[in-house]
Amino acid sequence: MIKFLDLHKINERFRNEIDERIKNVIDSGWYILGEQNKIFEQNFANYCGVKHCIGCANGLDALNLIIRGYGFGAGDEIIVPANTYIASILAISENNCTPVLVEPDIKTYNINPDLIEEKITEKTKAILIVHLYGQAVQMEKILKIAKKYNLKVIEDSAQAHGAMYDGKKTGSLGDASGFSFYPGKNLGCMGDGGCVTTNDDELAKKVRAIANYGSDYKYHHIFKGVNSRLDELQAGILDVKLKYLDEDNEKRRKIAQLYREKIKNPKIILPEIYDEKAHVWHVFPIRTKNRKSLQEHLENNGIQTNIHYPTAPHKQDAYKEFSNLNLPVTEEIHNTIISIPISPVITDEEVNKIIITINKY
Ligand SMILES: *Cc1c(COP(=O)(O)O)cnc(C)c1O
Repeated sequence: MIKFLDLHKINERFRNEIDERIKNVIDSGWYILGEQNKIFEQNFANYCGVKHCIGCANGLDALNLIIRGYGFGAGDEIIVPANTYIASILAISENNCTPVLVEPDIKTYNINPDLIEEKITEKTKAILIVHLYGQAVQMEKILKIAKKYNLKVIEDSAQAHGAMYDGKKTGSLGDASGFSFYPGKNLGCMGDGGCVTTNDDELAKKVRAIANYGSDYKYHHIFKGVNSRLDELQAGILDVKLKYLDEDNEKRRKIAQLYREKIKNPKIILPEIYDEKAHVWHVFPIRTKNRKSLQEHLENNGIQTNIHYPTAPHKQDAYKEFSNLNLPVTEEIHNTIISIPISPVITDEEVNKIIITINKY
C-alpha cells in the first residue's frame, strides 16, 4: 500500500537529532516558553525573512491571535477565499467578524484577485489570503487593493512553509501571517503547534501578550488573553526539522514535476503553477469528473488518496448563514478535486506506479 502520507517515515529520518533535543528539554526542567521556543522563533523568523515569530498552540489560534491583535471584532468584515480549509474562516467568526467569501481562480485554486474589490465595503478591515495546497498567492494585485482601501493583509500560510513569491517567503508577504505545524504540514511537529510571523512590532507585542493570558510581564495582565503557547518539546522538534525544510520542499517539487510531465489522461486535470519557487506542494491536487471511481481505481491498486476538501465551508452545517451563496467555482473544485500522494519520503518506484495507475484509469 502506498500511504497518502507516511508521517513515521518522514520523522524517522531525523530520529537521532530529535531524540537529543527531547532529552535536552527533559533535562532542562523547563517545559513552557523557554530556550527552545526562543531558538526556534528566531530561526523561523530568519527563515521567513521577518522580524518577529511568536509561537502558539496551533494554526487556527495563530490566525485568531492576529485578528484579535489588530482589534477587529463585531461589525468588521474580512475577505477570505471560499474554498479554503474551514479554519481560515473559523478564525474570523471566532472574533465575531463577518467572513466575506470570494471565489478562487479555477486554474490555481487560490483566491481570484479580480473578484476582491467588488466585495469591499466601509466595514472591510482585512483580506485573509490562503496559500492553498502550498502555492503562494500572486500578491501584486492584492497588495495594491489593500493599500487603496487601507486594509490589512493576513496570510494563512498553514500549507505553504517555504513557498515564495517575488523572491520572498510566505509569512513575509502581508502584514502578518499564521502558520500551522500540525504533523502533516510541510513543517510539522509531533502534536499541535503554530506561530505568527510579522514585521509589525506593535502587533507582535500584542499577539505575544494575548497568547499568554494577556500578560506583558509576569502576573501583569493588559488584555483578557488566552493560553495559546508552543511547548518546548514541539519547538525543539520543529527547530531540528526546519533545517531540512528546503530540501524536503525540493523533493516535493521534483515529484510534482514528474506528475505534471507524465500524467497524461484526458479525464484528469492537472494543477497549474505560476512558477517553480512559488509552490511547495503541500498536496498535489488533481481534478476529475467522477472522483469516486478514480479514488476506487487507485485504492484497488494499493494507492491511498485524500480529498482537500469534500465539502465547501459554505455548505457546512456550521455555516448555515452561507447556505444560499452562489459559489459555482468553489463548488466545482470541491466536487472534483482529489489529492494523490506527495511527500519527501515517497520513492521513485512509488511515484512511477502512481503515474502508470492514473494513466490507465
Ligand atoms: C491546517 C490548516 C489550518 C489550521 O491549522 P491547525 O494547526 O490544525 O489549527 C488553517 N488553515 C489552513 C489552510 C490549514 O491547512
